[in-house]
Amino acid sequence: RCVLSITLALTVCTVITLVLTFLATNATLPPGTKFGLVFDAGSSHTSLFVYQWPSDKENDTGVVSQTMTCDVEGDGISSYARNPEAAGSSLRSCLDEAVKLIPAAQLAQTPVYLGATAGMRILSLQNPKAADWVLAEVAKTIQQYPMDFRGARIISGAEEGAYGWITINYLLDIFTKYSIKNGGWIRPPATKMLGALDLGGASTQISFFPSEPIADSTTASHFRLYGFNYSIYTHSYLCYGQAQAMKQVIMKLSQKLQNTPGQIEHPCYHKGYKKNVMAQSIYNSPCTSYLQPSGLNLNQEMTLMGTGNVTKCQQAIRAIFNFTTCGPHFPCAFNGTYQPNVSGQFFAFSAFFYTFNFLNITSGQSLSEVKNIIEQYCHRSWKDVTDSYPKYKEQWLQDYCANANYILILLLEGYKFSEKSWTSIRFQQKASETEIGWTLGYMLNLTNIIPVEAPVRVRTQKE
Ligand code: AMP
Repeated sequence: RCVLSITLALTVCTVITLVLTFLATNATLPPGTKFGLVFDAGSSHTSLFVYQWPSDKENDTGVVSQTMTCDVEGDGISSYARNPEAAGSSLRSCLDEAVKLIPAAQLAQTPVYLGATAGMRILSLQNPKAADWVLAEVAKTIQQYPMDFRGARIISGAEEGAYGWITINYLLDIFTKYSIKNGGWIRPPATKMLGALDLGGASTQISFFPSEPIADSTTASHFRLYGFNYSIYTHSYLCYGQAQAMKQVIMKLSQKLQNTPGQIEHPCYHKGYKKNVMAQSIYNSPCTSYLQPSGLNLNQEMTLMGTGNVTKCQQAIRAIFNFTTCGPHFPCAFNGTYQPNVSGQFFAFSAFFYTFNFLNITSGQSLSEVKNIIEQYCHRSWKDVTDSYPKYKEQWLQDYCANANYILILLLEGYKFSEKSWTSIRFQQKASETEIGWTLGYMLNLTNIIPVEAPVRVRTQKE
């Protein structure tokens, strides 16, 4: 009997230990939590976003949130054109981190997507085979993990814009509300819909619900979400992300100085800034190569010398836009691209936010205040700037003045925001603790988390 009681006690002990271990490892997760992973393979870097949501409320609005983000070491995947295998291995540390976070039993049902944006669009124009190879290598790596891999592809500019728009309207719970009075789901008034402004390194996107019909159907994206149809205006400008735009500016400045090649006075860089770059680094992109001077030696060094002159900086930036032509549809933004007048509130994120956040101009300052702050910052010498911000990478510091002026020209003269509509732009990186960008909208759409028809609503007794 003594042996029997010891065995029973040991069994009870083991069961308790097992239950406690299970509870401890899952303590922070409510039952029925689902996960989804999206890699944002941008032009300058790749990030992994891990989302989670309660499975019993999957189709409600605003229930998906970001639980983890991981920055992949190194540059964007398009920089691996000569070494595609390394693009695949670069993703491993973030995948390992995600595997640790997600309960083992959930891994096989966790979808993983990789979407590549304008850096890869550019590579696929320059060298389609290399672009395919890079995508094949990243896919190969992700497939070695136990999650449900759903593809690695280059998303179009229109998708990038439209998914950013879905993300922000989902996160701020704009799409639909249940009206007890009407006994059904109601469509938000058009004025409530939020516009999305996204600025990457290689492209920029504008997406919004216009107050007038969309005259050029090639710029419209159509969705049916929660039982309502939406047609939004969206356009992506390749070569107008900030890094490619800056290459264009340097190219234009060097064209003006054809007689003294090698020395370029750059009004958007701070006084005292001096940097040697290879001609190759300016002309290595289809955004600039079409204007490469004949006979230019790509190994030639060019010296960029900052002059910190805001008026000239804005002139140099204007030179990369064509504000005068318009195609068959009116009105136009720039380069002959149709755009209805901006309307409603906008969220400006990614590099719009990075630059304005650095300059402390994200809290609703008026346009004149913003212009003043940018001008004062650009007038500071390079020594003053580097001494004042020792913790910032030089790579970012050198461009904040140029990028801030680029943002002003793009928003005001490109997209035609006015002094009045300026105040309707919010420069923000996150909403509901989730990063604003195209990745969430992409996952919501591909996993059908946003249903086409409104979910059936179970009435409570009070109603
Ligand atoms: P992408 O890689 O296409 O998403 O582009 C993001 C852009 O933001 C690139 O031009 C980056 O150089 C820039 N960027 C990323 N992080 C920062 C930062 N902390 N400060 C300034 N610019 C940034």
